[in-house]
Amino acid sequence: MTSVPAPDRALGAVIGSAVGDALGAPFEFGPQGAFSARFPEPGRGGEMCGGGGWDPGEATDDTQMAVLVAESLLECGGLDLPDVFRRFERWAAAGPKDIGLQTEAVLSSGDGWDTAAALHFQVNGRGAGNGALMRAAPSAVHFAPLGRDATMDAARRIAALTHGDRAAWEGTAVFHELVRVALAGDDPLTALPGTLRAVHPGHRARYATVLARDWHPDLATEFNGAVWPCLGSAVWALRTTATYEEAVRAAIDLGGDTDTVAAVTGGLAGAAYGIAAVPARWTEALHVPLPGFGGRVLHSAELADIARRLHG
Ligand SMILES: [Mg+2]
Repeated sequence: MTSVPAPDRALGAVIGSAVGDALGAPFEFGPQGAFSARFPEPGRGGEMCGGGGWDPGEATDDTQMAVLVAESLLECGGLDLPDVFRRFERWAAAGPKDIGLQTEAVLSSGDGWDTAAALHFQVNGRGAGNGALMRAAPSAVHFAPLGRDATMDAARRIAALTHGDRAAWEGTAVFHELVRVALAGDDPLTALPGTLRAVHPGHRARYATVLARDWHPDLATEFNGAVWPCLGSAVWALRTTATYEEAVRAAIDLGGDTDTVAAVTGGLAGAAYGIAAVPARWTEALHVPLPGFGGRVLHSAELADIARRLHG
């Protein structure tokens, strides 16, 4: 793993996450093993199949929101939370094909960037979906050079724009840190104990459970649309496979929220293995519509450019 240059890992994280999203989208809410049943021979091709309302290679809200964060970071020269929130609002108002229930409620509430998610959480008491974790690959690349505390803090603040539950912040912070470790050429799995020590004490035990070596996605106590099993499943997929392709296949085969579990897995595995490990037959078909932003559709080349600039 250590022979992969850091810029290739940054591209792997951003594009690897987008590819996982697009690859998993047609299998959302499907049963376990559906991907392997349809594509039994790895490497054969045709996996970017589309379906469920998605064109082949079309990325969903996960990657669309990730790009919005990325473009805000680049255009503002750093973290401008009101600007990120405004971009989210503009996108949500344009009617994307998919948007998380909680994210939609927060972004259409008309409340301010610094209160909307908290108010929604106060009223509903539920805010621990995976909707902030799913969009974190670009910000993880951008903040990695600043070190562990800074990248985890930035993750929490971006997550808090749409998710009022600290559990969602902490899961996103763990993802940021694992990507930082991978970009540095180290093993994110080895970094888990140290990362857990940086998790808010009130949330540490629950993350320790799903990130443990002997945890399996079948042990999840919630649907994998929740932040804990989603992150745990992504780390499990990375731990139990040896390539980017195998990790993403394993993630989609879990069923449930396949696009997001594969987006998170793809971000981690892409950072660990680098862009060369992401199959070209998958990146070629990849495209990311951006509702609300002039009908723009980004392809792999544009995502690569974004990733390079985020990496600096
Ligand atoms: Mg999605």
